[in-house]
Amino acid sequence: MNPFSFERAADVAGAINLVHAKAGAKYLGGGTNLVDLMREGCERPETLVDVTALSTAIEDRDGGGLLIGAGVRNTAVAEHRGVRTRYPALARAILSGASGQIRNMATVGGNVLQRTRCTYFYDEAAHCNKREPGTGCDAVDGFNRIHAILGASPSCVATHPSDMCVALVALDAVVHLEGPNGARTLPLTDLHRLPGDRPEIDTELRPGELITGVELPELPLAQRSTYRKVRDRASYAFALVSVAAALEVENGTVKDVRLALGGVAHKPWRAAKAEAALKGQPATEASFRAAAEAELTDAKPLRDNGFKIELAKRAIAATLGELAGDKR
Ligand SMILES: Cc1cc2nc3c(=O)[nH]c(=O)nc-3n(C[C@H](O)[C@H](O)[C@H](O)COP(=O)(O)OP(=O)(O)OC[C@H]3O[C@@H](n4cnc5c(N)ncnc54)[C@H](O)[C@@H]3O)c2cc1C
Repeated sequence: MNPFSFERAADVAGAINLVHAKAGAKYLGGGTNLVDLMREGCERPETLVDVTALSTAIEDRDGGGLLIGAGVRNTAVAEHRGVRTRYPALARAILSGASGQIRNMATVGGNVLQRTRCTYFYDEAAHCNKREPGTGCDAVDGFNRIHAILGASPSCVATHPSDMCVALVALDAVVHLEGPNGARTLPLTDLHRLPGDRPEIDTELRPGELITGVELPELPLAQRSTYRKVRDRASYAFALVSVAAALEVENGTVKDVRLALGGVAHKPWRAAKAEAALKGQPATEASFRAAAEAELTDAKPLRDNGFKIELAKRAIAATLGELAGDKR
């Protein structure tokens, strides 16, 4: 691991100044991803600015939503009464990830910005355009069982690993940012990028920007939301495919729906085609399956991950069926 200096930020402005002033400086949350990446040589920051003491509250918003501070630990989000009752998909997504110890350390900001778990990204001996731009992608023709089926490019087939972000994307979350040029907000669906020919850039963040919080809007249908994660082991494993969904059914018809997928793309995947296909349709297994088919139309399998296409369709249909009252 490279030598680095450590600073603890006293406030948001101080944190931004510290990172802006020093080339090679990075924010540090719980360190559960960044420190691993430093040990593996994938990241080499010269300064770490600890931001875990900032933005540590979960607040009710006037309009009925919730603002979750970026420094709130993942465990605290999952345990929060308002999250559990008003946005259960979010609590379930967080609890499906990592382990109790890691969730106790991990922060909301760090979870949003955790990097891919592509094994070639972590392996310094492998070619990886995300780790070293222009070197190629060994995953494209390598062992790619865990890789992307949607939105990938010849430069990169990595997936975004966060469970929490899949629920946040489904629930219309908005990320609050502060940076050297002021504050702004961004829908979480627009924060993470598809790889294109610049896979080394994961997000639309501008240099030095700090995530200060994630806002969940008032969303009554989110009370009927859930998260389903399909993985190789029952715990301590990343998603092969995951589904976050919220569903409102009136007189047997889908009145409103939110749907997002994890484990399938370089970003948490908002399933807009499936949502459009479902609205106004009977809340039946046939409609859920048809919506899943619509979403996966453009899926492109790699050598080892064709199974993810059918898995995603079944996971979507089963999750919607569960929310519609089907006991499967
Ligand atoms: C063994 C293991 C298993 C795991 N399993 C899962 C799983 O199943 N599902 C899952 O979703 N995750 C899983 N994780 C990942 C885990 O959720 C992340 O490591 C964690 O959420 C990262 O949060 P952190 O606060 O520790 O981030 P850090 O490691 O501190 O930081 C991560 C990145 O975010 C940046 N950053 C941190 N805070 C801010 C901020 N406020 N503003 C701007 N940038 C910031 C850092 O600079 C860094 O680039 C696993 C991790 C491990 C080690």
